[in-house]
Amino acid sequence: MTDTRSTCPYCGVGCGVIIESEGTRITGVRGDPDHPANVGRLCSKGQTLHLTAADSVARQTRLLHPMQRPARGAAPVRTSWDEALNLAARRFNGAIATHGPDAVGFYISGQLLTEDYYVFNKLAKGLIGTNNVDTNSRLCMSSAVAGYKLTLGADAPPACYDDLNHADCLFIVGSNAAFAHPVLFRRLEDARRANPDMKVIVADPRRTDTAGIADLYLPLQPGTDVMLFHGLLHIMLWEGWTDAAYIERHTSGFDALKALVRECTPERVAQVCGLTEEDLFTAARWFATGASTDPQARGATLSLYCQGLNQSSSGTAKNASLINLHLATGQIGKPGAGPFSLTGQPNAMGGREVGGLANLLSAHRDLANPAHRAEVAALWGVQSVPDKPGLTAVELFEAAADGAVKALWIACTNPAQSMPDQRTVRRALQRAEFVVVQEAFTTPATCDFADLLLPATTWGEKEGTVTNSERRISRVRAAVPPPGEARHDWRIVVDFARRLRPGNTLFPYDTPESIWLEHRESTRGRDLDITGLSYAMLEQQGPQQWPLREGLSEGKARLYEDGVFPTADGRARFAALPYKPLAEPRESRYPFSLTTGRLRDQWHGMSRTGTLGRLFGHVAEPAVQLNARDMERLALADGDLVHVTSKRGSIVLPAQASEQIAPAQAFIAMHWGAEYLSGLSSSGEPLAGVNALTTSAYCPSSKQPELKHAAVKVLKA
Ligand code: SF4
Repeated sequence: MTDTRSTCPYCGVGCGVIIESEGTRITGVRGDPDHPANVGRLCSKGQTLHLTAADSVARQTRLLHPMQRPARGAAPVRTSWDEALNLAARRFNGAIATHGPDAVGFYISGQLLTEDYYVFNKLAKGLIGTNNVDTNSRLCMSSAVAGYKLTLGADAPPACYDDLNHADCLFIVGSNAAFAHPVLFRRLEDARRANPDMKVIVADPRRTDTAGIADLYLPLQPGTDVMLFHGLLHIMLWEGWTDAAYIERHTSGFDALKALVRECTPERVAQVCGLTEEDLFTAARWFATGASTDPQARGATLSLYCQGLNQSSSGTAKNASLINLHLATGQIGKPGAGPFSLTGQPNAMGGREVGGLANLLSAHRDLANPAHRAEVAALWGVQSVPDKPGLTAVELFEAAADGAVKALWIACTNPAQSMPDQRTVRRALQRAEFVVVQEAFTTPATCDFADLLLPATTWGEKEGTVTNSERRISRVRAAVPPPGEARHDWRIVVDFARRLRPGNTLFPYDTPESIWLEHRESTRGRDLDITGLSYAMLEQQGPQQWPLREGLSEGKARLYEDGVFPTADGRARFAALPYKPLAEPRESRYPFSLTTGRLRDQWHGMSRTGTLGRLFGHVAEPAVQLNARDMERLALADGDLVHVTSKRGSIVLPAQASEQIAPAQAFIAMHWGAEYLSGLSSSGEPLAGVNALTTSAYCPSSKQPELKHAAVKVLKA
């Protein structure tokens, strides 16, 4: 038996795993006791990784050969890599020659490795000359990115997991970490046991398992987070709980914010958010003082947050308004304190590092900045990087649905299930003239729309790096060879690039490390500088946090300890952004607020976790959870089928009473696809999953869609 150290591919906690293998078979997995993220622990998903890689599962679910669909609607037939890549190059070159480079687009994934991400970005922006490369990280972290950059000056989470051990107050908002980041949640529980005086505040419309551990639970109305944060600041100012010295020394823009929150009185905030004034005062005091009873000794407050803030039409405002609270109280840059966004996907962070989004460039550079474009062009050895902003996820599919984007390349993600407003996404996939899907599995709904299917390697088979929520870079290692004809994602891109523009010298790579070295050089002098890091160092010393500059022997656990921020004047900036209501508030025709979220034992669209019976032990089938009073009012019993309908579509599923759900709210887990949860669009086309219902309204700054809320009606079927 061989042991291979690698990283779990499921979530942003980034747990280290040891893969056990025999020959070409993965036979087991256990937590890596030496990995700082999990110190040997794994959650139910991580513990069963090896079973999802079993031969019997692979035979049924893996894409093993390139497949070409002779005609739309026909079954795909096997083809060779040569024929497949030549066809892709011909069709992409055809679209570019006729309609220009912006007629093609790439939609990639926070589950790709950093090296994969790097070459996709270079392919689009460096070789083809379009910025139309976006990723499912747009659905995950782009509001966190926009919030950090707006206030702190860089997309860099300032805290680390060890801060849990130093925090006196935890403010968990828009995060069900118990389900979405289970190993981190175990660390949180450990920290609390070690510090029984720690106070935990949880703000969430649902009384989730995470809320179950709260000393103070704030059941705020969906979408009212900005009002809550402004109201807490109002109270802190009124009570003298802000840190005037920190504000004076290290920030700018406080007067405008003070003026903005003046009207966010406790009475108004309580009414808008559906909370009590007493709870608002308690939350404000605990946050500002770190729950200290000694006014002279301020404790430390750490905020943990995730999609409840990010997946919102006010995503940037929510993130920035929470960071405002940390700046106003000096709860940042010290052990146990800071705003800490939890990354949803395993490598959404690595994708941001290489600029794998339509508005970014390598090493946290901005596409809108001419100097940054020139730096990246020089690095790549191309004349220029196009200045026209690329299409972000929702925009890309809308453009394809409108006929403006002719050729789509989708890698390692399943937009036909995971994007909001399925109706538009499916129209896009049908209208695009050529769709390539680069995938490890045959099961994702998007495969049904592919003209060309390219088999990719997956966990246990590929090499590279990922970065977790605390800026820690870990190695991903192969334990077994690729099955069938599957190729590594980076290799597919390089092979395609060489056919697309024969003779180009932009893709000289023969290993993931050769790509990573170019990425490393791109970070020199940037906030995420990793010029002191190497694959060899990761091998010898294990996972490392960035920044890790040349000459240093370890990275930085915590940022901004000196109170200096990566802005023009070195000061953090308060963001005075007003509260705005939901894009689609509930109203008389659609009287329920639908929220979406994760289950404990499933991951994304279930292409991997859905192959294991034991992971259905926790939740066996889809349901819409409703408050018991609403169930009674609608004359529903548990298990009764209901139509859940939004303006875009309708699905049928069992109703289930849940104490976690407030009146006039409904919850459906995001994972269930067409095999479990089918529906129809408002014009009668077949749709799948909860995203038949969700809206593609997005935050104007981050362009992240409001997957967390749609107005729906619920009627007995
Ligand atoms: Fe994997 Fe996340 Fe579970 Fe860790 S917490 S084992 S990274 S799914």
